[in-house]
Amino acid sequence: MTAMPAQHALPSWWRTQLHQLDDYVSSKSVPTESDFVIIGSGISGASVAYHILQQHKGPKPPRLTILEARQACSGATGRNGGHLKPDPYSFISKLAAQYGPEAAEEVAEFEKSHVDAISNLVKSENIDCDLVVTKAIDVQLNPRECKKVKASLDHLLGIGVKSAKRVNVTDRKEAEVRSRVKGALGCFSYEAGHIWPYKLVLHILGRCVEQGAKLYTHTPAQCISPEKDASDRWTVDTPRGTIKTKYVVIASNAYTPAVLPMYSNNIVPVRGVCCRIVPTLPVKSLTETYTLRWSWSEFDYLIPREDGSVIVGGAWSKYYRDMDTWYNNTNDNEIIEPAKEYFDGYMQRNFHGWEESGAYVDQIWTGIMGYSADSLPHIGQVPGKPGQFIIAGFTGHGMPQAWLSGKGIAAMVAEGIPFAKSGIPRIFETTQARLEKNRNDILETMGEVTKPSARL
Ligand SMILES: Cc1cc2nc3c(=O)[nH]c(=O)nc-3n(C[C@H](O)[C@H](O)[C@H](O)COP(=O)(O)OP(=O)(O)OC[C@H]3O[C@@H](n4cnc5c(N)ncnc54)[C@H](O)[C@@H]3O)c2cc1C
Repeated sequence: MTAMPAQHALPSWWRTQLHQLDDYVSSKSVPTESDFVIIGSGISGASVAYHILQQHKGPKPPRLTILEARQACSGATGRNGGHLKPDPYSFISKLAAQYGPEAAEEVAEFEKSHVDAISNLVKSENIDCDLVVTKAIDVQLNPRECKKVKASLDHLLGIGVKSAKRVNVTDRKEAEVRSRVKGALGCFSYEAGHIWPYKLVLHILGRCVEQGAKLYTHTPAQCISPEKDASDRWTVDTPRGTIKTKYVVIASNAYTPAVLPMYSNNIVPVRGVCCRIVPTLPVKSLTETYTLRWSWSEFDYLIPREDGSVIVGGAWSKYYRDMDTWYNNTNDNEIIEPAKEYFDGYMQRNFHGWEESGAYVDQIWTGIMGYSADSLPHIGQVPGKPGQFIIAGFTGHGMPQAWLSGKGIAAMVAEGIPFAKSGIPRIFETTQARLEKNRNDILETMGEVTKPSARL
């Protein structure tokens, strides 16, 4: 059984400037009734809450309660790599092979629309969250992989998947100069962004609270009743009391099986590691985001920050063979030991011009991703549980998927719009058939290291 979020998580750099709502509770006890209960205060829960309140048109705002087991936004969103990177070709190739070009393109376009949606949100809400829209460069460092990736990009172009046209390819001759990465054999670049995710989410939670939402941090949803009561409501138990509600939205990411055990085989907590690297001597700063790939399973991702530092995540190659260190493991209160020293000298090793930078690891932390067994998020009405909705399982790639999924869920919950009209890609819909599939991409990836894993 999946554990609840661990206490005393390692501090992440994103959580070094805490918002006044970080430990907020609206009242000592939770309300006994609420129109909507949202479990989780990461980007998914915040988006659902924000959009329910935005869509509301009546005179009185709906009664909306957000429950958070730890501090606000202390899960994956507050501990990630800050990469807002819509994928136009990489995992999209796999989706095209499995679900057809149309379904794959739907996902690519949905992800792309996150850059505009989040840019517009940041502008309209005037959010101070360091959003930068730039280019992502996927740097290939292995000749066989590089050839394979180029071939699958050509295939996507051949079958007419539009998003593949957005990828700019730099071949071996220019790759090292283009990317500044030592040994680069090919670069695949396209629009992407980076952001301070905690600041974005806390601002949104603040707006929700201003509009009447009740926020309870340090208040885990302990369980949801197996059946509705006589007045058609679910009961949600918390240490601050019990709430009756018609609608529960489960936005608890990796920890979903703790409140929805029927997802135990489908959403698994997977540990990841990120760090902040700071140069001590002047260095020509990076302006684009990166993925450095030595193979499908050996890769890191990196975003530059305006202060000259970089946030780097990855290191999976150092610990994936020891499954207990990462699979079905919710310890974000401990460092992943085998990855501890991986980032020492990372920039000096991999980037031209950083050799004399004196760059050092300033902070390193662990985070818990919610991996889905079929690599797709589970979004929509929970099968067999009318009034319960799930938005979880983003498999290490939630930043270009969760915000508009939250908008879609809000429309489904508050306005009764069917999934098909929610704007969410069809293959993200949670269904009984998906729950029953005997499939585990996560373990397959580990067994066969040439298969795709996280897609950051
Ligand atoms: C190390 C790391 C690096 C990553 N890098 C990137 C990246 O660069 N780009 C990218 O796109 N994605 C990245 N991801 C993935 C991305 O962060 C997630 O997909 C996304 O943040 C998921 O958001 P969420 O709101 O669904 O989940 P979360 O942010 O995890 O929020 C879920 C919240 O629910 C709370 N909760 C859980 N159970 C309960 C309960 N029973 N009651 C009350 N509250 C509960 C948790 O405490 C948590 O705050 C990374 C993840 C990690 C861990």
